[in-house]
Amino acid sequence: METLVVPAGEGRAFIIENGRRIRISTPKGQQSADFFACNGGDTTEWLSPPHTWMPTRSLHPRVGDTFLSGRRQPMLEFVEDGADGLHDFIIAPCDAIRYKQFGVEGHHRSCAENLVLAMRDIGHEITQAPLAVNFFTNTVVEDGFMFNTPSDPVVQPGGYVVLEACMDLIGAVSSCPYDLEGPGWAINAPGGPTEIVVELM
Ligand SMILES: [Zn+2]
Repeated sequence: METLVVPAGEGRAFIIENGRRIRISTPKGQQSADFFACNGGDTTEWLSPPHTWMPTRSLHPRVGDTFLSGRRQPMLEFVEDGADGLHDFIIAPCDAIRYKQFGVEGHHRSCAENLVLAMRDIGHEITQAPLAVNFFTNTVVEDGFMFNTPSDPVVQPGGYVVLEACMDLIGAVSSCPYDLEGPGWAINAPGGPTEIVVELM
């Protein structure tokens, strides 16, 4: 087994061979892990939540789901959920533009930037901005509306998911660097981002 610690607010990319399982966990809890995946032989084919919703008929990822690429190819099976189903499948990853809109001056890390840097670290330049599965983020959907309030449940320390690759993949995980205060989405714990652990089994 290989273990990779994704430092708080940073991202890492790694190879996942077909048939291999990957366990992603939040040791301290309530830390969004933006998970991206692309075809190991073609970095223009990315995991796509909207394409996955169609066969799963669900806006929440559930055990047994097959995550599809934008070309509708099976990429990963969701095999185990140790986080009580508290995952977001809808919200686009944070990016530099979003932080500017929040009023941040100067540079702020983002999941989109973390992905670019992580892919560059393993030798791939990407120009796309793919969507992610946001594990350990609670998005409540009711009557077509989405929300998240401080009273909604959060993922407890040690929460995890296990996925199994259906093709040779490159996976990437961003420990979401969102650390702003004020009204809005309760994305990460109030104390700021924490690390995410990735285990390749
Ligand atoms: Zn983020």
